Amino acid sequence: MLPFLRADLANLKAYKPHPPMPKPYDQLDTNESPIDLPDDVKASLAASYQQAIAANRYPDGGHTALKQAIANYVAESIAESVMVAENNISVGNGSDELIRSLLIAAALGNGSILVASPTFSMYGILAQTLGIPVIDVGRRENFCINLEKAQTAMEQHAIRVVFMVHPNSPTANPLTTEEIAWLRQLPNDVLVVIDEAYFEFSGHTLVADSLSRSNWVVLRTFSKAFRLAAHRVGYAVAQPALIEALEKVRLPYNLPSFSQAAALAALVHRASLLAAVQVTIAERQTMVDWLKQQPILTLWPSAANFIYCRLSEQGRSQLGMSQAEGLQHIFGTLRQQGTLIRYTGGGLRISLGTPEENQRTRKNLEAISEPLTAHA
Ligand SMILES: *Cc1c(COP(=O)(O)O)cnc(C)c1O
Repeated sequence: MLPFLRADLANLKAYKPHPPMPKPYDQLDTNESPIDLPDDVKASLAASYQQAIAANRYPDGGHTALKQAIANYVAESIAESVMVAENNISVGNGSDELIRSLLIAAALGNGSILVASPTFSMYGILAQTLGIPVIDVGRRENFCINLEKAQTAMEQHAIRVVFMVHPNSPTANPLTTEEIAWLRQLPNDVLVVIDEAYFEFSGHTLVADSLSRSNWVVLRTFSKAFRLAAHRVGYAVAQPALIEALEKVRLPYNLPSFSQAAALAALVHRASLLAAVQVTIAERQTMVDWLKQQPILTLWPSAANFIYCRLSEQGRSQLGMSQAEGLQHIFGTLRQQGTLIRYTGGGLRISLGTPEENQRTRKNLEAISEPLTAHA
C-alpha cells in the first residue's frame, strides 16, 4: 500500500462490471435495454455532432436545454397541477454521480447512511470511498423492510440519508404503502433518496413527494428504458434548495456535449423508444410463467426489467448443494453456455433481453434442471 493513501482504501475493491466472457454472449447481467437506439435516432445524433457540437468548446455546464426537456418529461408522470421546472432538476454523469453528490452534500463528515440489503450496491460502495458509515437494516423474507428495525436504527445512529430503490434492485419489488408511509414520516433533517432507475417499467413514481417535501429527492436514469447506458446520463428531481446543493458539489463540466445531445434526442423520440418497454413487460410475463414451472427455483414478483430468483428447497436437495453452491453452479453453467446473468451473493438476477435471448436463457436453464427433474 502506498504510504500516502488512506488506510481504509486497502479494504475496498474496484468495481468490476463483467467477468470475462467468450464472445458472443447474451448480456443479461446489467439490466440495460437489449435493443440499441434505432438507426434514425443514431443518424440524427451523428448529424447533431457534425452540425451543432463544437468539439473545441466545453459542454453547456448548466445543462439548460436538457433540464427543461427533463422537467417536461417528469411532469408527464404526475398530476397536471404539480409544476416541474428547470430548478427542480440536476443532471449527473449517470445517477452514480448524483448518488456521490448527495453523499457529499448530506453525509460527508455529517453522519451515516441507511440502506436495506439486498439493494443497489453503489450506495454502500460510494459511501465507503468517502469514509461515510453505512448502516444496513436488511430485509424480510419477502424483501420488505423491517420497519421496526429501521426505526431503531434511525434512533441509534446519526443517519443523514436513507437510500431506497423503487422498485428495488436486485429483488424487483416496489416500495409498499407501509414503507412509503414510514419514509414520509421521517424528520426533515433526514434526506430520503428514492432511486427510480426502473420507473418506466414499474409505472410507480414518488416524484410528487420529491417536489413537495424539502428532504426528498428522486433519482432517475437514461441508462435503462431509454437505451442510453453508453452515454451516462442520470437526473435528480427535488426542490430548488436541494438542487442548488447538488449543483455546488458537482464537477463543472460533468456531462459531455454528446451525452447531452443523446439524452435530448432520446426525449424527443421517447414515444418510439419507450415502446420497447411494453415488449419487455410482455417478456417478463412469459419468463415468470416459465420460471414458475421450474421446481428447482423460487422466484419473486417483478415490477422491473429483471427477475430475481433463488434455489428452492427441492432444488437444493436435487443438486445436493447449499443455496450458495447451487446459485454459483447455475450462474457458472449459464455463463459457460453464453448467458451472463448476475449472481448477487444471495440470489440470481436475470435481466430480460430480446425474445430470442430470453428463449436461450430458458433453454440453457432447462438443460440445468432437466437431468435433475428426470432423477427426481
Ligand atoms: C442501473 C441503476 C442505476 C443507473 O445508474 P446510472 O449511473 O445512471 O447508469 C441507478 N440505480 C439503480 C438502482 C440501478 O439499478
